[in-house]
Amino acid sequence: MNYIYCMQSLFTLIFCLFCLPALAQLSDGEIMDLKTGRRKEDTSYVYWLPYAENKRFLLIQASNSKMSHRDELSLDFKMKKGSKICAAREGVVIEARGDSDKGGLKEENLHDGNYIIIRHPDGSIAKYWHLEKDGVFVKVGDTVQKGQPIGASGNTGYTAFPHLHFQINDKTGRQILTRFYTRRGIKYLRPGNWYKCVRL
Ligand SMILES: [Zn+2]
Repeated sequence: MNYIYCMQSLFTLIFCLFCLPALAQLSDGEIMDLKTGRRKEDTSYVYWLPYAENKRFLLIQASNSKMSHRDELSLDFKMKKGSKICAAREGVVIEARGDSDKGGLKEENLHDGNYIIIRHPDGSIAKYWHLEKDGVFVKVGDTVQKGQPIGASGNTGYTAFPHLHFQINDKTGRQILTRFYTRRGIKYLRPGNWYKCVRL
């Protein structure tokens, strides 16, 4: 095993230890509750990755990791500024902001993020955060299709480097884990991996 591969595996392992969800994925369609050991069919919605088809990005932080996300169930994709952001699921834009050009790791930056929030047909919402200035291509009330370009990534708000923060809340407001189509099937994402957007 070469050094880089080894470091990558270590990196992935460390992240996974910190971010193990309460559910384990057994196959594309089956999950196991780690507390009870019970297997069940996974009927949850399958999202598209929130960027352009065939583009791949590194997931640097995911659900439940103990860094800035703490108890959040959300995803951070490392992304060059200006990368195209696409709707992971169809819905209606309920909030959006694109006029900020500020970002950093100061408390005051918490309110500087540009973002888009989309409500899906089942009442859940998706949040796309840290978009670049003027990087919001939709407005409140717009209906968007799955895969439609909606914005451009950036580094606004509370952030240390350019990335997309993506999260889903269910209709009760609870943050939830979601699965995605990937080149290797339907997956819950793990940090330290690159994911290419495939659309099935
Ligand atoms: Zn984040």
